[in-house]
Amino acid sequence: MKNMKGSYPGTGLTVLLLLCFSPYALSDGLPDLGDISQTVLTPLQERQIGQQSMLQIRAGKQFLDDAEVNDYLNQLGYKLVENSTEPSLGFEFFALDDPNINAFAMPGGFIGVNSGLLLTAQSESELAAVLSHEIAHVTQHHLARIIAGQQNDSLTTMAAIAIAILAARTNPQAAEAAIASAQARSIQQQLDYTRTHEQEADRIGLDILQKSNFNIHAMPEFLNRLQLATRLLEGHAPAYLRTHPVTSDRIADIENRVNKQPYRLIPDSLDFQLVRTKLIASRKTPADAVAYFNDALDTQKYGNPVAQRYGLVVSLLRNHDTERAALELATLRKQTGGDPISGGSPMIETVAGQVMLAKKNDADTLAFYRTAAQNFPQHRALIYDYAELLLQSNQAETAAKLLIEQLARHPSDTRLYDLQAGAYAMQGKRLEQHQAQAYSYAWQGNLYAALEQLELAKQAGGSFYQLSVIESDLRELRELLDARVRP
Ligand SMILES: [Zn+2]
Repeated sequence: MKNMKGSYPGTGLTVLLLLCFSPYALSDGLPDLGDISQTVLTPLQERQIGQQSMLQIRAGKQFLDDAEVNDYLNQLGYKLVENSTEPSLGFEFFALDDPNINAFAMPGGFIGVNSGLLLTAQSESELAAVLSHEIAHVTQHHLARIIAGQQNDSLTTMAAIAIAILAARTNPQAAEAAIASAQARSIQQQLDYTRTHEQEADRIGLDILQKSNFNIHAMPEFLNRLQLATRLLEGHAPAYLRTHPVTSDRIADIENRVNKQPYRLIPDSLDFQLVRTKLIASRKTPADAVAYFNDALDTQKYGNPVAQRYGLVVSLLRNHDTERAALELATLRKQTGGDPISGGSPMIETVAGQVMLAKKNDADTLAFYRTAAQNFPQHRALIYDYAELLLQSNQAETAAKLLIEQLARHPSDTRLYDLQAGAYAMQGKRLEQHQAQAYSYAWQGNLYAALEQLELAKQAGGSFYQLSVIESDLRELRELLDARVRP
């Protein structure tokens, strides 16, 4: 999470507690926002509602736990945020494994995109158009205004139900439970944006899209395609059109604006192509995916041949055909200019590393990862594999150093904490091991397991400074759990 990049390991839990929960008490796992008479939520309250929803979404089945897809979305998202009216606002973009065409924004800058929408977008500009529109909903605080503007309900109830509904949008069963009451049903309806909100988000979103050098004509093109799909499906509108109501007026409005501007075709980035290809591959069985990409390359259809070859390598690996994966990878390297690592895309380097891991030529593989991690230190998928290889090669010290650097960048990444716990366990550093494990559990929302790990860390013993950090984390966690249990 970019907004937290200033923190460092050792304060992970404090940061979590500050942002998610304290100073507000919790009841039933939902924040008590106290007696607030204002009609606009403060930025901290927005962030807390978003964080709460996010913890539930992360724990849900539909969260797409793929660092490459999520890193790509954040890269694209932040390029757009830089050109928004609030460039310094913290955002987090994430993907959901859901074929329904949808994208949504939660208060505090959390923006979710369904895999269905990622695959429906025919160009990177179309995806950027959807993200710009969602960013505009956040910078204009639309949802926060809806939540805070409910004069008849107490803000606490409203916020609690809103969190449940927002989080449950990713999980239909939970959604049913969350909206069981009549009050919740009326709130569910009120959470959908109004026409005024939509027009404002379109206008501001278009501005972001243009400043970020994407094709602004992509916005009406995408909406027109969704409307056409609706007609073909006899009124069963994609989820996106239900949560962001589209009228012909609205599309005409956008077309009016963009038609005054010349048509500029902006080429898609390779990462956009690779992410889509990876999603296509993941929806098929390994054998079907191999057949699909073989066919696409043979007949030269469905677009970008580099992305198709990449899809083939990924699918061959999943199908345990290591030899052919290595051959196709060599061809892919030639297609991308032949320069391994420095000229390549981090996604291609990640799969190249995985081919080497599958072939088990250890000495070469370690050297490869050392260089790749230097060239692409931001690419988490590559870092995970490198750290795991270091642990398997008994290089716990190098792994621990790498993970500390990475956690400074991604202080809420539970996989990094798990790997760090592994490195410390290997070094016999028991306090640090349990502390890292505690942070992993805490960020997964499992506060009891986190407490248990902190107790173990305390028992393991350490320096005065280390023990005082553990004590302070324990204190905060206990207060939090106390508040949660009390009605
Ligand atoms: Zn909208």
